[in-house]
Amino acid sequence: MSNQYDVVVIGSGPAGYVAAIRCAQLGFKTACVEKWLNKENKTVYGGTCLNVGCIPSKALLDSSHKYVEAQSHFDVHGISVGKVSIDVPAMIDRKDKIVNQLTGGVKSLFTANKIEGVSGVAKVIAKNKILVTGHDGSEQELVANNIIIAAGSVPIDIPPTPIDQDTIVDSTGALEFQEVPKRLGVIGGGVIGLELGSVWSRLGSDVTVLEAIDDFLPVADHQIAKESLKILIKQGLRIKLGARVTGSKITKGVKKSVTVEYTDGEGEQAAQFDKLIVAVGRRPYTRALFDESVSVARDERGFIEVDEQCATNIPNIYAVGDVVRGPMLAHKGMEEGVMVAERLADKKTQVNYNLVPSVIYTHPEIAWVGKNEEELKTEGVDYSIGVFPFVASARALAANDSEGMVKLIADAKTDRILGCHIVGASAADLLQQIVIAMEFSASAEDIGLTMFSHPALSEAIHEAALAVNGHAIHIGNRKRRK
Ligand code: FAD
Ligand code: NAD
Repeated sequence: MSNQYDVVVIGSGPAGYVAAIRCAQLGFKTACVEKWLNKENKTVYGGTCLNVGCIPSKALLDSSHKYVEAQSHFDVHGISVGKVSIDVPAMIDRKDKIVNQLTGGVKSLFTANKIEGVSGVAKVIAKNKILVTGHDGSEQELVANNIIIAAGSVPIDIPPTPIDQDTIVDSTGALEFQEVPKRLGVIGGGVIGLELGSVWSRLGSDVTVLEAIDDFLPVADHQIAKESLKILIKQGLRIKLGARVTGSKITKGVKKSVTVEYTDGEGEQAAQFDKLIVAVGRRPYTRALFDESVSVARDERGFIEVDEQCATNIPNIYAVGDVVRGPMLAHKGMEEGVMVAERLADKKTQVNYNLVPSVIYTHPEIAWVGKNEEELKTEGVDYSIGVFPFVASARALAANDSEGMVKLIADAKTDRILGCHIVGASAADLLQQIVIAMEFSASAEDIGLTMFSHPALSEAIHEAALAVNGHAIHIGNRKRRK
C-alpha cells in the first residue's frame, strides 16, 4: 500500500480516532498511528480514555455502586439479599472485557471507514513526513498532506511519592488492584482522586484523600462543592485539605505498606497505607514527538500551542485533545477532532469552548457547565439563581436517591442561562439538557415554559429554572438576585 495520505493522525484516543473517522467520512485517505500495546502485547486503539481512563473507571464505579446498593440500600425497599460479598478479580475482569469490547469497536470502525491503523511510535520528521518505529524496531515513513497530533497525556508524578505501580500507583495501577486495600491513601482530591477513591471506599477501604489546596474542588461552584464534600464525607471518605505531601517510605514485610509524610495546618503528620494512589493531574505527552527540524510551538508546560481552530504554527499540522490547552476531557478532544477534519474539508465548524460540560462520576454525580457564582462575581455580572433540592423531587424520593440539588444561574437582566451546577443522581445526563439549551441561548423562562415528564429527575431542572424567577411550584421561593 502507498505510504502517501491526505491525513495522518498520531494517536487513537478519543481526539485522534474521532478525527480519523471524520476525515475518512469526508473522503480523505487517512492513517492513524498508535503505539499502545495491551496486556497481550497487541496494538489497541482508544487511547487513555478507553484503555485506562473514562471507560474502565466508570466500569468500576458502576460495579462498586451496585455493591453499596445491595449492601446498604436494598433493605429500605424491603429487599434482603443476605451477606453481600465482592469478588475483586471478577470485577476487574468485567472491566477488562468492556475495555476490549470498546477498543475492538474502534478497530472495526477503522476497518469500516478504510482507515489504515499503523502500529508503532510516530515522530514528525518533516512538515509532511512521519517516521513510525514499530515495536520490533522496524521503521517506515508516511507522507501526509496534513498531520493531526492527538498524542494525549500521561499522569504527573511527584518526587515525594515515586510510582512503583505496586504500593504507590497512578490512576492506571488503581484500576488493577486484585484485592481491596485495607487502608488506601489518595494524593490529590481532584476528579481521579474522588472517582477512584470512591470505588475502593465503597468496597471497604479506609480511604484518606490528601489534597494540597485548602479549598475543596475550587473549579466547581462553591455551594455545590460544599454540598458534595458533605456527602462524600458522610460516605466515609476522609478528605484532608491543605495537606502537602513531603515524603514517603515503603515498608517491606509480608505485606508492603507505605508511610506518607505531609504537613497541614497542625504541623508535620504521617499516615500509613497499604496502597497509595497518586492523582495530582496529567501532563501533555509531547516529548520526542518532533524532530528538531520541525519547530511546532509548545508552551512551558509542553502543551502544543494552537489557535481556536487547533492549527499549530506550522500550516498543515494540527493538534487536538489533551496535548492542547483547555480541559483534559474526552468530549472536548472529540469535538476538536471533528472540527479539524471539517476545516480540512473547507467547512466552518467551531468548538464552543464556553460550553464544555464537566462531570465527576461519584455518587451522587457532580456536574456543571458555564459560569459559576464566583466567576460571575469576579466579572461583575448581575445574575439570578434558582435552586431546587432533590429531596423535593418525587422521582428522587421514589428512587431513594434524593441527595443534592440543581442550581441554575441566569443573567438578571436578560434571563439568559449563564450556568448550571448539579450534585445529584444522574447529574451528567440532567446537565446535558441545559448544555443544549445554552447552545440555543435559552433563558430560564424558556426552560420554565417547557413541559417535563412527571415523575422524572429532570423536573428538578424545570423547577430550578422556575425558581430563577420566583415561580417554583414544589418549593418555597426565595428569589436570590445578586
Ligand atoms: P489519549 O486518550 O491520551 O490518547 C493519546 C493516544 O496517543 C494514546 O493511545 C497514545 O498511545 C498515543 N500516542 C502518543 N504518542 C504517540 C506516538 N508518538 N506515536 C503513536 N501513538 C502515540 N475524560 C472524560 O471526558 N470523562 C471521563 O469520565 C474521564 N475519566 C478519566 C478517568 C481516568 C482514570 C483518566 C486517567 C482520564 C479520564 N478522562 C476522562 C480524561 C480522558 O481520558 C482524556 O481527556 C482523553 O483520553 C484525551 O484524549 P486524547 O485523544 O487527547 O488522548
Ligand atoms: P485534577 O487536576 O482534577 O486534580 C488534581 C488534584 O491534585 C488537584 O486538586 C490539585 O490541587 C491536587 N494536587 C496537585 N499536586 C498535589 C500534591 N503535591 N499533593 C496533594 N495534592 C496535589 O487531576 P486528576 O484528578 O489527576 O485528573 C487528571 C485529568 O483527567 C483532569 O484534568 C480531568 O479533567 C481528567 N479526568 C476527567 C474525569 C471526568 O471527566 N470524570 C475523570 C478522571 C480524569
